[in-house]
Amino acid sequence: LRVSSTARTALIAEWDRCRWIWNECVAKSRQIHAHNRAHPDDKLTCGPAQLDKMLTEARAKLPWLRDGASVPQQQTIRDFGTARSRALKDIEKRLPIRQRAGMPRVKKKREALPTLNYTTRGFRLKDGRLHLAGGIVLTVVWSRDLLAAPSSVRVYRDSLGHWYASFVVATEVQPLPATGRVLGVDWGVKETATTTSDAHDLPHAQYGKTAAQKLARYQRMMARRKPARGQAASKGYRQAQAQAAKLHKKVTRQRQDTARKWAKRVVRDHDALAVEDFRPKFLAKTTMARKAADAAIGATKTALIEMGRKHGRDIRLVHPAHTTMDCAHCMTRAKHALPLSERIYTCTACGVVSPRDKNSARVMLVRAGLIPASVEGVRPPGALLPEAA
Ligand SMILES: [Zn+2]
Repeated sequence: LRVSSTARTALIAEWDRCRWIWNECVAKSRQIHAHNRAHPDDKLTCGPAQLDKMLTEARAKLPWLRDGASVPQQQTIRDFGTARSRALKDIEKRLPIRQRAGMPRVKKKREALPTLNYTTRGFRLKDGRLHLAGGIVLTVVWSRDLLAAPSSVRVYRDSLGHWYASFVVATEVQPLPATGRVLGVDWGVKETATTTSDAHDLPHAQYGKTAAQKLARYQRMMARRKPARGQAASKGYRQAQAQAAKLHKKVTRQRQDTARKWAKRVVRDHDALAVEDFRPKFLAKTTMARKAADAAIGATKTALIEMGRKHGRDIRLVHPAHTTMDCAHCMTRAKHALPLSERIYTCTACGVVSPRDKNSARVMLVRAGLIPASVEGVRPPGALLPEAA
């Protein structure tokens, strides 16, 4: 977006009001939670109805809140409700704490990045410009044409201070010609993706490497310039912080670009995909290299799923447990996990020898039901046979 200084001031004012509402919701939700703990026989609810009522009352009481458009404020409440119920569901499901969505937290002025949501009532497009409720007009630099009338728009600022508008549009599947081929995908550190087709393997791009060194430098700078508790950050600290953010953004963009190009090729060449359902562990002790690899896998997996859906391909996510232990030919499970240093999988049952990651990629296909495991070394039909066999 191109944002005039008038519009910027207006957007920030809207954001301040929405942030205040969000924080009120957090306070209210905590209060109710505490009450329910103390009085299990007199439980209060904190649903959309209660929050809506809270907003109506607050707007009636506070003129400065009323000065803001109501659409983004109502959306703030919706977003809060969604975040809260997601967190509650994860608690109910008894997911391990690491995998749970956290309860919505207070958004601090200095830390939270502005984001405003508008439904159809709150915006319109006219002559390529975006008009928001409350008389805010923004010039859009279109990255691509809208395929249909958008049902909502999110206006947000990133960590570099750039403003963006992201429109929600209903899309239709764009089918691609059938290819008669299927592909198994295994994620890893050295190769971001190892597949059952050598031509579709994706080596890990080392964008992070030089960036990591620079990043470490900025982080040392930030550590040196770290403000004392309760004090405002110095100019130097904020500069280092901005440099680090810029670098992060660059690496993220490069990763996304590589991921999308690869996904496009993979989806074009295959009708069905069996993809390892990788989830990063976010362990505190992981190395920078491991973190970079995880980020690359995350971006690539997302791009692949999105691209597959867009073109109506059959995407099957496969649970990653034991994929390195099973033999893709006879599906016998090895007695012990292969050490990471062991790059070759040798099956003690049927004697097949194959590169470890290629074996895993093939296990994905078998597990997803896209090819049958061959019995007694009988090979499945040639077109489906990975080169690694
Ligand atoms: Zn075997």
